[in-house]
Amino acid sequence: MKSIVFMGPGKFVYEDRQKPEIKNPDDVLLKVLGVGICGTDLHILMDPPKHPAKPGIILGHEYSAEVAEVGSAVTRLKPGDKVIVDPHPPCGQCENCRSDRPGMCTELYGTVGKEFPQYSGHANTRGIFQDGALTSYTRVPASSVFKVKKETPFQVAALAEPLSCTSCAIAKLNIKPGDTVCVLGAGPIGLLFASLAKASGATTIIVSEPAEYRRNKALKCGATRVINPKVEDLRAAVLEETNGLGIDHCIEAVGAEMMTAINLVRCEGKVLQFGHDETATPSIRLGEIVRKEVKIYGGFLGKYYFEQTARIIESGILPLEEIVTHTFPLSQYQDALDLLNRREGLKVVIYPEEY
Ligand SMILES: [Zn+2]
Ligand SMILES: [Zn+2]
Repeated sequence: MKSIVFMGPGKFVYEDRQKPEIKNPDDVLLKVLGVGICGTDLHILMDPPKHPAKPGIILGHEYSAEVAEVGSAVTRLKPGDKVIVDPHPPCGQCENCRSDRPGMCTELYGTVGKEFPQYSGHANTRGIFQDGALTSYTRVPASSVFKVKKETPFQVAALAEPLSCTSCAIAKLNIKPGDTVCVLGAGPIGLLFASLAKASGATTIIVSEPAEYRRNKALKCGATRVINPKVEDLRAAVLEETNGLGIDHCIEAVGAEMMTAINLVRCEGKVLQFGHDETATPSIRLGEIVRKEVKIYGGFLGKYYFEQTARIIESGILPLEEIVTHTFPLSQYQDALDLLNRREGLKVVIYPEEY
């Protein structure tokens, strides 16, 4: 089966791999339907890379699939079920897992080189440190697999992983009906945050994004006002929309704008840093945090959040179809990367051509 295999910084190959088989009684063999390309994939494929990955593995960690076969111990799933998959299941054994911090499971990160010493521990995430889904079939344990309704479009279901991460992260802010929210960046992640803020009851949702195409998408994903920060004064707009108070919650979905977020929040406002660039070292004015008593949260993975994610996707409460803008066959993976590197399109979903 044709697969996209990571070969080291800046390199991948499109090559044949053997179809996996059920090995353990709790294994599930999945027929891959759609695989989203993530900013992390682009970071992995940069030279020098901005995110580590293990050479030799099949890429692709955001995907939807159909159950092809199940092991003898699997009773919850059957062939033909449409599913989403948690690519980085917590081990349940380490100290962090056993102290209610599954997102910090020490088994998550691979030891893959000196450039990323923070990724110490053992390889785990499928599509980054072990074989992922940019192929026709993949084998995973049943505990990582969650059913969605059959009529869910595969492209929309492929958003499950980023949706689980953003849903889990935004829950930290405890947004209440009537709250004000600002989202920095309207890539797929920023758009997921804007639509989740709306679903959480926020009534003012300001999205800051330089690209006009993305600003227009933000308006379809819950934004009540969009700002081009290169042209307009974002802080002035936020003060205007919040009676001079500043925003209750600012979500950073860029990777280098934390100081902007700190400047925009009201006293005791909350900042969620989600934009992820392992190489970014922005300078921060500490006085602003201290004086306003700003609360700063980091958001990363959506642990134990896939059941909720399946329900959110099925419900249709979020305009997810607005976020998936392109689909490409697996053989055109490079074309899809080129499109994203030109910053055209939002979420691109790849589908295998043969089974
Ligand atoms: Zn991702
Ligand atoms: Zn663990």
